[in-house]
Amino acid sequence: MNVNEAKKKAMNGLGLLDINSGVYHGKWMATEGKKSIESVCPINGQILGSVAQGDADDYEQVMAAAEKAFKLWSKVPPPGRGEIAGEIGAELSKNKELLGLLVTLEVGKTISEGAGEIQEAIDIASFAAGLSRQLYGLTIASERPEHRLMEQWHPLGTIGVITSFNFPAAVWAWNALIAAVVGDVTVWKPSSSALLTAVAVSRIANKVVERNGLPPIFLLACGSGRTVGNLLVNDKRVSLVSFTGSTATGRSVGEQTAARFGKSILELGGNNCAVITPNADIDLAVKGVAFGAIATAGQRCTSTRRALIHSSIYDNFITKLTDVYNKVNIGSPLDPSSIVGPLVNNDAVDNYKTTIARAQEQNGRILHGGNVYKARNCKSGCFVIPTIIEIDKQEGIVLEETFAPILYVMKYDNLQDAVRIHNSVPQGLSSAIFSTDIRETEYFISNAGSDCGIVNVNTSTAGAEIGGAFGGEKETGGGRESGSDAWKYYARRQTVTVNYGKDIPLSQGVVFPV
Ligand code: NAD
Repeated sequence: MNVNEAKKKAMNGLGLLDINSGVYHGKWMATEGKKSIESVCPINGQILGSVAQGDADDYEQVMAAAEKAFKLWSKVPPPGRGEIAGEIGAELSKNKELLGLLVTLEVGKTISEGAGEIQEAIDIASFAAGLSRQLYGLTIASERPEHRLMEQWHPLGTIGVITSFNFPAAVWAWNALIAAVVGDVTVWKPSSSALLTAVAVSRIANKVVERNGLPPIFLLACGSGRTVGNLLVNDKRVSLVSFTGSTATGRSVGEQTAARFGKSILELGGNNCAVITPNADIDLAVKGVAFGAIATAGQRCTSTRRALIHSSIYDNFITKLTDVYNKVNIGSPLDPSSIVGPLVNNDAVDNYKTTIARAQEQNGRILHGGNVYKARNCKSGCFVIPTIIEIDKQEGIVLEETFAPILYVMKYDNLQDAVRIHNSVPQGLSSAIFSTDIRETEYFISNAGSDCGIVNVNTSTAGAEIGGAFGGEKETGGGRESGSDAWKYYARRQTVTVNYGKDIPLSQGVVFPV
């Protein structure tokens, strides 16, 4: 399938040909006189469509609708909210192939990864539906006679969801569907590199809401980070800002939200590392590292960016890894045989080139790749060759996240050293150890081991399941989303003391004789 055929199929099938509004506040904003942003396909530079952006007035309309909707939605009992999440999951399932195709066209993921992205949103929908009956609070033993002490969770209100380009549907679902069953409404500001996906997903979710006669709980506010993003971050009506993106932007989002005492969830950059010990199953480790470093053209927050390999197996491991890299098909992600699609845009290609030049200045030796790639029939595409760079010292550019398929490989001699190097970066998202020795693996997942939010044993740093809480430490921002009890971020915890006696006994033995 070429870009034109795929575009026709996805846009027709998803009903996007008639919609070019990027704002939904119970109805789609009229687009006359509005500034539009074009969605450019990274496979061949073709324009896929354009989406009209909201201004400050449109933002006000979105917020007014959100506040009104919250009053009604928060009164719906949680299991009823869960049914809506379930219905949205069913609609996403029906449209999985088309939505996946749109993700491929807009951000360049392979067909399999595009479909996987939508599957992740579907999985979250079923998780949210089940969760809606499990929003448990605690009952705590009270120290006072005839008193009951308990904890309950109320919805927060309006949640701002600012998302990155690389998971243009799944990250919305992680936030919006979990927040919805808690009783919140969400205002989504998607990445300007993935606007069509945002419009398509919002349309599907809102059709479910509308046919159930409910108020608009999934609002959409497309616009630039500097305008709409900034408005959301600084708006006191937004109780929680969930931000997914680079550490640089996230730092300022976190600071601004905190300055107005708003809550934030920050899901920022990673610099993920795999440690391969002498006791590793080498073939398995090679597959795990190759997937982590190459999949999604290195544009996952969990992509493997560093590999620490024991010196006794280093040469063997590198030979096998470069063999895999030599066989990897780079090309149009619409071709099912392609494993590596394009980077998202030309700026990303420039970052790839700059990073390689900087690594070379630091005495990095290129073992594979190092160049842009001219893919067949995609001459204006943003393709690069997955690159392996051998380095002696972890410093400079290696401490930074470059959103491209660049893997730094290093030798180590003992596991304690490897863990120290592993942890000596500012980011703390995902990590992996490849070993069949339980002492090594247990050490790595112990408190003395990896300092990341996510740790993997004998599997890749990339490819998390939705059931666990997702997020990382240090400059990755400390937020947690998706599974486990991450729903609590979207709720207001309330501690309740009930006295059912005839006296007022005080805690801590305090006496107040009146
Ligand atoms: P980005 O920081 O460029 O943009 C993210 C979002 O922030 C976009 O919607 C953008 O419009 C918005 N934005 C920009 N300026 C803003 C401002 N001043 N105020 C408010 N919003 C603003 O990131 P990106 O290039 O889209 O995504 C890649 C980055 O996201 C990588 O660093 C990656 O590691 C990170 N990421 C992290 C996770 C995670 O869960 N930890 C997941 C996916 C991506």
